[in-house]
Amino acid sequence: MRNTSWKRERAWIEVNKKNLAHNVKILRDAMPKGCELMAVVKAEAYGHGAYAVSRHLNKLGVFAFAVATAEEGIKLRQGGVQGEILILGYTNVCRAYELKKYNLTQTIIDYDYARALNSQRVKVKVHVKIDTGMHRLGIGWREHERAVGVFSMKYLNVTGVFTHLSCSDSLEKRDISFTRLQIRRFYRCVGRLKSRGAVIPKVHLQSSYGLLNYPQLSCDYVRAGVALYGCLSSPGDKTLLKLDLRPVLSLKARVVLIREIKKGEAFGYGRNFIAQRDSRIAILSIGYGDGYPRNLSCSQGMAKIRGYQLPVIGNICMDQMAVDITDAEGILPGDTATLIGEGDLSASSVAEYGGSISNELLCRLGGRLPVVIRYS
Ligand SMILES: *Cc1c(COP(=O)(O)O)cnc(C)c1O
Repeated sequence: MRNTSWKRERAWIEVNKKNLAHNVKILRDAMPKGCELMAVVKAEAYGHGAYAVSRHLNKLGVFAFAVATAEEGIKLRQGGVQGEILILGYTNVCRAYELKKYNLTQTIIDYDYARALNSQRVKVKVHVKIDTGMHRLGIGWREHERAVGVFSMKYLNVTGVFTHLSCSDSLEKRDISFTRLQIRRFYRCVGRLKSRGAVIPKVHLQSSYGLLNYPQLSCDYVRAGVALYGCLSSPGDKTLLKLDLRPVLSLKARVVLIREIKKGEAFGYGRNFIAQRDSRIAILSIGYGDGYPRNLSCSQGMAKIRGYQLPVIGNICMDQMAVDITDAEGILPGDTATLIGEGDLSASSVAEYGGSISNELLCRLGGRLPVVIRYS
């Protein structure tokens, strides 16, 4: 293994490749036969590092990826990532040549966009997105005429049709009926396109929760993000499939100082922590500048050091924070603190303490953090 000790000096992300491979296998086993995994690696693969994750996935036989922007796709191609790379979001049509050059597949976000892209006179691969009720991107499910029109555009090579489900994460009755409605609208629309002569190589509609709650759908890809990284969005989420997914990412930081503060003294900005007793505190070299949410200040968040679960005290700073170690024994400068990991520190739990979901927490882990790859 390469010497990566410099990366562990201050604060860092650890990516566990074994767990990534495990999740790929578990997801594949849960998917219907013939359906492939499309790894969603937008936003630096939810903070895990898009390039390293995608290259590793190539080795595991994953050859379909989804990104949010053309830039993200180009970076992967320049690094040698192989397979389909679908851009889920908007790309300025004047970049058609780059889409072709880097063999990227662009999402058709509406009919006028298709016309504008076609008018660039550069042959590009596209997936047509159908809006089945989320009302974000896509050609409306009732507008099959227009969707069929895209198939006859000379410079657009349609290699797929997809939709996105807006509440597949919920098992509330009304959300289940809305999701089923979206699913029916999608397949009906696909059926109409086919009956009008459209050749559709690939169809897809599930993201992570789409698979976990609607595993039986027949399609060609599952677009998995958060599940691939071994997380639920929120820790209490109930899902139909209960898969043994394991967290791929941990967030760690160094204990750089240990200090004693007297009863009545304060820590940090705003003096928001006042010691109720003579206390020992550990200063960790990580802060909101690294993506650790500031609203985990004042006991909302916690860190694990030498097996002790310790509350965050005072306000989290941009580059530092502190935990109360008065009741813990044997903690020394140089020790490693875990901020995101397993159990009570799972990404979904930590996100929830801060009022968000794991998806946001992970993808905001900043560019300042080095990524250390673990192989076991
Ligand atoms: C981000 C995204 C996904 C992945 O969602 P997860 O819930 O992380 O699996 C899938 N499809 C689309 C269109 C997305 O934007």
